[in-house]
Amino acid sequence: MSEFEQKVLKLLEDINGKLDKLLKTEPAPISSAPTPSAAPSPVPSPAVTTVKPSAIVERQEEAARMEEKPPVEGRRVCPECGGTAFATHEDRNQVLHQMGGVKIYAKRYVCKKCGWEA
Ligand SMILES: [Zn+2]
Repeated sequence: MSEFEQKVLKLLEDINGKLDKLLKTEPAPISSAPTPSAAPSPVPSPAVTTVKPSAIVERQEEAARMEEKPPVEGRRVCPECGGTAFATHEDRNQVLHQMGGVKIYAKRYVCKKCGWEA
C-alpha cells in the first residue's frame, strides 16, 4: 500500500468519524442525512400492502354468501299447505353469479309436505 493510499484511507476514516458524530447529534437523521448510505432508508412494510386487498375480497365473498342464504332458515311458510319444512335444491340452470371459477346457483325451496316449489 503506497503512502498516498494510506493518506487517503486516513482521510476517509476521519470523514467517516465526522459523519458518525453528525448523524448521532442530528435530531432527525433520516430526513436530513447527508449521505444516503449512512442512514438506513425506511423500508415500506410489505405486510400492509399484501394483506389488505385479499381481506377485502374475502369480506365481499362472505357478504355474497350471506346474501344468498335466507337469514332465518325454516321461517318460510308454504302458501299451499302452510308447512314450514322445506328442502333446498340448487337450481343448476340459474347461475346467480360466478366468482373465481366458482358458480353460485340460485336456490329453490321445495315444500316437504306438498312439493310446492318456491
Ligand atoms: Zn306445502
